[in-house]
Amino acid sequence: MRKKIVAGNWKMNLDYANGISLFSEIVNMVRDEKKGDQIAIICAPYIHLNSLAQLGGEIVKIGAQNCHQNDSGAFTGEISATMIKSVGCEYVIIGHSERRQYFAEGNELLAQKTIKALENQLTPIFCIGETLEERNNGSYFEVLKAQLAQGIFGLSSADFSKVVIAYEPVWAIGTGLTATSDQAQEVHAYIRKEIEAKYDQEIADACTILYGGSCNPKNASELFAQPDIDGGLIGGASLKSRDFVDIVKAFNS
Ligand code: PEP
Repeated sequence: MRKKIVAGNWKMNLDYANGISLFSEIVNMVRDEKKGDQIAIICAPYIHLNSLAQLGGEIVKIGAQNCHQNDSGAFTGEISATMIKSVGCEYVIIGHSERRQYFAEGNELLAQKTIKALENQLTPIFCIGETLEERNNGSYFEVLKAQLAQGIFGLSSADFSKVVIAYEPVWAIGTGLTATSDQAQEVHAYIRKEIEAKYDQEIADACTILYGGSCNPKNASELFAQPDIDGGLIGGASLKSRDFVDIVKAFNS
């Protein structure tokens, strides 16, 4: 059985007090309402992580949105995976399209960050996805293949098995344009085939692959019902407790 995960990505939103308040609401609602074994995660700005990890406990897990590729040193303004782990985080997003686009993070750097996360017993949520141009010109499978190959296919089988993948078409992030469930399923099945070709069928079957891109309480159930979609990475809708928790509850089982 693959893990079912709904991970919120707060991005650069919410001051400290508002972050604590929203998170407390989410924890209470998840505790009271969640049925099933799905995992709820909030990936918050760095300033929130310590407090949220103490508030969330077993109910809602905590992740960071990025980490540096080195353990420590003269990297002013950066945060290491060791630091993130030390405050009780269990997850870290690596290679979100906004990091790739605005901070010029390429696959080689992201491979290093993934290794650092794993060395620190953090689960990487490794993001891949094509732009609108790449979707329209039909090169999206090649783009995704390269992101996988250069980003995470250098890992040993044991390490790869600890990674969660998020397929996030760039054209669907924050735009209100969701991939249809058929479009998303097509890509998720492709990713799983690539994993099988690189590793083996058992590893491919066990890999959790999330969909991200304007996922909301209305479309989540249909997306999550697809055979190769194991949950979601949620941006905008994770800033509203009711919406986020309804997405957590959107699995059929
Ligand atoms: C994201 O930032 O990962 C994301 C999927 O954003 P949104 O849900 O707002 O499209």
